[in-house]
Amino acid sequence: MKKSSRRLDGLPRYLFADLENVRDEAKRAGREILDLSIGDPDMPTPGPIIDALARAAADPANHRYPTGRGMSTLRERAARWFNERFGVKLDPEREVLCLLGSKEGLAHLPLAVCDPGDVVLVPDPGYPVYGSAAMLAGANPVRVPLKEEDAFLMDVEAASDEVRRGLRLCYLNYPNNPTGAGASLEYYQRAVEVAAERGFVICSDAAYSEITYGRMRSPSVLQAEGGMETAVEFHSFSKTYNMTGWRIAFAVGDPVTLSCLEKVKSNIDSGAFQAVQEAAVSAFDLPPEDLEKRREVYEKRKDTVVTALESMGCRVFPPAGAVYVWAAVPEGYDSTGFAAALLERTAVSVSPGAGFGPSGEGYFRISLTAPEEHIERAMGRIGEQGFWTR
Ligand code: PLP
Repeated sequence: MKKSSRRLDGLPRYLFADLENVRDEAKRAGREILDLSIGDPDMPTPGPIIDALARAAADPANHRYPTGRGMSTLRERAARWFNERFGVKLDPEREVLCLLGSKEGLAHLPLAVCDPGDVVLVPDPGYPVYGSAAMLAGANPVRVPLKEEDAFLMDVEAASDEVRRGLRLCYLNYPNNPTGAGASLEYYQRAVEVAAERGFVICSDAAYSEITYGRMRSPSVLQAEGGMETAVEFHSFSKTYNMTGWRIAFAVGDPVTLSCLEKVKSNIDSGAFQAVQEAAVSAFDLPPEDLEKRREVYEKRKDTVVTALESMGCRVFPPAGAVYVWAAVPEGYDSTGFAAALLERTAVSVSPGAGFGPSGEGYFRISLTAPEEHIERAMGRIGEQGFWTR
């Protein structure tokens, strides 16, 4: 009997399945796993946001269906934040759309703007949702390699003539998961020019825009001239405020594209719980030191990992932003083999680069969303193995 649609058959296999078996075995043997594979903040949501949720949850006005686009208070506050942060004025009515987490919006976007067969450029390595979303919409995801020699910046001009003809949508993601690379405003300006010339939409995934290192401040694609006509950008509360479980985010930018996305969503979901939206509004009112403290925690963890791996002789790519460190696997291993060997020998779990696309082969990703003490012990265990010195 037929069980799943052909569309589902096209989705990639879950690449970490084999690793999960190794992890389960280690757990059964009673070993303590130090899990640095997943990007899910270990720190709690700030107290004032939780208090705002509790207050809003007690208000019966919030117990009914929300409006699909999001409450005007949230859209207005998001627009104000955007203007203060990036100097770009947004019309909260047409240029801000509330989402059930940015993954939801990113995943529904191809349904909103692509016809079957249209080409969608996706970064490789990259967040797997972009390619799957394109496939689910019947579009054709084309992977564009992020290369070390280009500082992992996606070359939006690289596509062949054939690809260019059908090109409809291009996902960009900076600060980048998994490489940690950052983009400059000049980079976005060029991308916007190419998109305008060739008539495709840029989807900038800015989930990590507020988590950057050193003096890096991540720009927005909407700061580029013409950005508001060619691009939409996805911002999330998940990583900025440790709210991954709350499922709340927003998209900004080109009102035509956003209205298409809203149309898809209005047929699928009924908006985010209003109490969660009110709590999200309160997040914008936290003092800047709140975020600064979190950035410092990640910066310290990042330094611990980079210094430790470098001292082992591993080739590391210090991140500009996001909550990951990207590094090259030792000679003689592919990425999945290395992650499995690491798990087996040290009970430290990392993500193999190949899980993010074929161009991720040869690399692995360490997530910084674990306590410093775990990270230090994990580095100690890896260092003892001498992976890079034999
Ligand atoms: N974009 C990137 C690059 C991510 O890594 C993630 C989550 O890990 C998301 C989007 C999803 O974030 P959200 O929790 O807002 O759905």
